[in-house]
Amino acid sequence: MSDSEVLQRAASHALDYLQSLDRRPVGTTADPATLRDRLGGPLPETGLPAVEVIDALVRDVEGGLLHSTGGRFFGWVIGGAHPAALAADWLTAAWDQNAAAFACSPAEAVVEEVCGAWLKALLGLPADASFGFVTGCQMAHVTALAAARHRLLRDRGWDVERRGLAGAPPLRILTSALRHESLLRALRLLGFGSDALEIIPSGADGRIELDELEAALKAEPERPAIVVLQAGDLNRGVFDPFGPACALARATGAWVHVDGAFGLWTATSPRFRHLLDGAEQADSWATDGHKWLNLPFDSGFVFISDPEAHRAAFAQAASYSQPVEGTRQQKDWNPEWSRRGRGFPAYAAIRALGRKGIAGIVERCCDHAARLVAEIGALPRVEVLARPVINQGLLRFLDGAGNHDRHTDAVIARLQAEGTAWFGGTTWDGVRAMRVSVCNWRTTDEDVARTIDAVKRVLSEGP
Ligand SMILES: *Cc1c(COP(=O)(O)O)cnc(C)c1O
Repeated sequence: MSDSEVLQRAASHALDYLQSLDRRPVGTTADPATLRDRLGGPLPETGLPAVEVIDALVRDVEGGLLHSTGGRFFGWVIGGAHPAALAADWLTAAWDQNAAAFACSPAEAVVEEVCGAWLKALLGLPADASFGFVTGCQMAHVTALAAARHRLLRDRGWDVERRGLAGAPPLRILTSALRHESLLRALRLLGFGSDALEIIPSGADGRIELDELEAALKAEPERPAIVVLQAGDLNRGVFDPFGPACALARATGAWVHVDGAFGLWTATSPRFRHLLDGAEQADSWATDGHKWLNLPFDSGFVFISDPEAHRAAFAQAASYSQPVEGTRQQKDWNPEWSRRGRGFPAYAAIRALGRKGIAGIVERCCDHAARLVAEIGALPRVEVLARPVINQGLLRFLDGAGNHDRHTDAVIARLQAEGTAWFGGTTWDGVRAMRVSVCNWRTTDEDVARTIDAVKRVLSEGP
């Protein structure tokens, strides 16, 4: 069997797929039973030719792929794969490099060093911060909070890497109601427990209340505390007041972590970067590559202002390792050991787009989100719950009989079935809402116009 036949075949299927995106309904059409029926069966005892497997796979997933990589997916914060990044991702798989250590792939290690520096410059973060290439923002939280745990406990005479958490001074995590649920899982994985979380009230604009934060920090000055701030929340794209919040935290020795899964990318744009004023004063930052940078999954980045704490939390010697003088062993900065070469797609995207190209994607997405919310919001019986601060907004559909929640869910379901575009539902401030999220480099004015027409059509047809 030659490599060439199956790889050419896969490339040709991939191109057919990408070229078909514009004609396809965005949502899925195959139900779970159909997919199980097509894809399942007894464990194969003997193999098949690779080309046959790939052809069958392409055939059998039909209807079971959500076409979020196309330009009219506005459901969750999901980017599309930029062509340069996608091409580099194909090569990453072909090169099959282990990104655990320098000796396994000097090229990947150097690309990560280069991208680490570029990313800090793009995101407005301190040049001497350490970094890691993780699977996504959740693992960026885990990595950053492990470093925070190290420093806060070390400062209290407790070596958490050696002794674990049992008997350690209990940590507090202070954040607002806007925190993403991935933070809770990071807390659970690190052994803090979700009970460690204390929700600080926020104002009507969603930003954490500084008086409340100060009072909470001062209420238990002895306890180690981590403050988690939001750079762009999922529903409105709210940014916390970083400068003053960091000053309060610093005064009490707390660690500040910023969840900037997508919002941190506004640093690339002169129009939006003021939203991040003061964020560079935090201790750690988490963001995604597979959202606004439009890298293929899985790709997240973590940055930590205290490289010593970062390294102390992760470095692990191994009998077989082959250190290379003056180089960076990636696994000493990452939760994973063996992993894929995540640097290559990031490198390709940053080189292909440049800072201006990335800022262009951010600004276009924000403009599209503003237009979608304004024009759909101006239709009869549509209420704007939240105009986007950046690329996220909320709408709600009003029902003559007053059952707005049910009606909103019904309109979302009808839009998904209609297929031109895809939006999801959420509960916000106690009511059901439709979230508008624009994160894809591919979305054009034409996509937005087609989407608004589709919403008009669905609303005028009624249930
Ligand atoms: C998507 C998201 C996360 C989780 O990121 P993953 O890449 O899915 O791990 C965390 N915070 C915010 C604000 C997000 O939008």
